[in-house]
Amino acid sequence: MPIRDKTRVVEILPRSFVEFMQLVDQKIDRNDPDTMIESDDLIQCAHAFGGLVDAAEGVYGFEFVQEQDEDLNEEYEGFSSDRLTVSWHYLLTREQIRAIGRIEQTTIPMWRCSKDCGRRATSEDWYCPECDFPP
Ligand SMILES: [Zn+2]
Repeated sequence: MPIRDKTRVVEILPRSFVEFMQLVDQKIDRNDPDTMIESDDLIQCAHAFGGLVDAAEGVYGFEFVQEQDEDLNEEYEGFSSDRLTVSWHYLLTREQIRAIGRIEQTTIPMWRCSKDCGRRATSEDWYCPECDFPP
């Protein structure tokens, strides 16, 4: 299925995501099994979840629930509350998790849809459930 063109943007890492990466960094240091078994949801917090998605490459994947900005919220007034949030998808190496958790890295290049739907992903070939559907 073709994926529509994405636009590259540099995003500030959200504070609650940075706090989550601090937790993940500590879990990896402790050899917590949740960080050593391949999964996409073994590591969780209130606003995010993820796991070791590629053990061979040492890549972790996270889905972070980001609140929409207020303008979009007004547009959706009267709709169910799940319209007010979108997910941001991060693929990160162990070194990136450490740098983000230690606030050595505060921004990250991401991709957004041409028509900005509010979602972001670190991979250009990411599939947006809203803008890339229907094909
Ligand atoms: Zn989109």
